[in-house]
Amino acid sequence: MTAQQTHSFEFFPPRTPEGSQKLQSVWGELAVLRPKFFSVTFGAGGSTREGTLATVKALCADGHEVAPHLSCVGASRESVRELLAAYRDMGITRLVALRGDLPSGAGLGGAGSWRHASDLVAFIRSETGRAFHIEVAAYPEFHPQSRSPKEDMAAFARKVKEGADSAITQFFFNPDAYFRFVADVRALGVSIPIVPGIMPITNYMQLRGFAEKSAIEMPRWIDERLRAFGDDTASIRAFGLDVVTALCERLLDGGAPGLHFYTMNQAASCKEIWRRLRLSGTPAGSD
Ligand SMILES: Cc1cc2nc3c(=O)[nH]c(=O)nc-3n(C[C@H](O)[C@H](O)[C@H](O)COP(=O)(O)OP(=O)(O)OC[C@H]3O[C@@H](n4cnc5c(N)ncnc54)[C@H](O)[C@@H]3O)c2cc1C
Repeated sequence: MTAQQTHSFEFFPPRTPEGSQKLQSVWGELAVLRPKFFSVTFGAGGSTREGTLATVKALCADGHEVAPHLSCVGASRESVRELLAAYRDMGITRLVALRGDLPSGAGLGGAGSWRHASDLVAFIRSETGRAFHIEVAAYPEFHPQSRSPKEDMAAFARKVKEGADSAITQFFFNPDAYFRFVADVRALGVSIPIVPGIMPITNYMQLRGFAEKSAIEMPRWIDERLRAFGDDTASIRAFGLDVVTALCERLLDGGAPGLHFYTMNQAASCKEIWRRLRLSGTPAGSD
């Protein structure tokens, strides 16, 4: 790893005391790798507000740098203001600012609520100045609701114009989509780091579900092989490790500024990919 690379691990807030206990041991195992930060997702509409806050607090108490996710759809300005104040009190300096998705059928929130993540980025900057490093989402294969690639990239550039400092992508399996996206938004004047989001492959049906929901292309050769493994989880895992490690290698060799792992609150695959890539931790004091 070079000093400029930023690697990070994402968790979701556990729903049970057993899940919380397990997550603590997961982050203990991953902390040894010295990532730049851990991030914690936030259910749109505030559905995981307490769970996200509790997980963020526990990670902070354990001495880790944490980037809470914050989504604006269906949220009031007052509730976001309160969260920003709570995070500042906890010493948090990095946030992942998102629009979020309300459950299907719920629309995008009532009149007056935020419609785009760029509105949230602008709000955070106007309320808190430079107190937070703001991460935003990027979509190398484009967001499923975007009207066109051009409009989606323009929407991404707007988030940067409003003050985003860096971006994390949706997961993908086609590195060319990432490189082309980065080149095209650079041409729009976007110069912030765009870190690829990496999804380890451990569960075929779950992965297919995520990919379908988020309009991510599963290359046929990967899909067919995974499907053919059936219940053979060891083969799925072994093949998944090969595929995802090769993807990460290609991305880092091509200049990606780091990797953000969607851990699904599991350590094993992330650790093994990290080992195969021979990554080392964040040097002390680097941003
Ligand atoms: C790294 C990462 C982390 C995530 N974490 C969470 C999480 O913790 N909780 C959660 O609920 N979801 C999370 N998501 C999912 C995310 O909330 C959804 O993908 C959501 O549908 C879009 O959020 P966004 O911030 O990208 O929205 P936006 O950037 O607002 O984009 C959403 C859509 O609106 C369009 N758009 C944006 N601005 C404009 C404009 N001005 N005019 C017209 N169209 C516009 C875009 O093209 C796109 O189609 C995450 C996604 C990623 C990639």
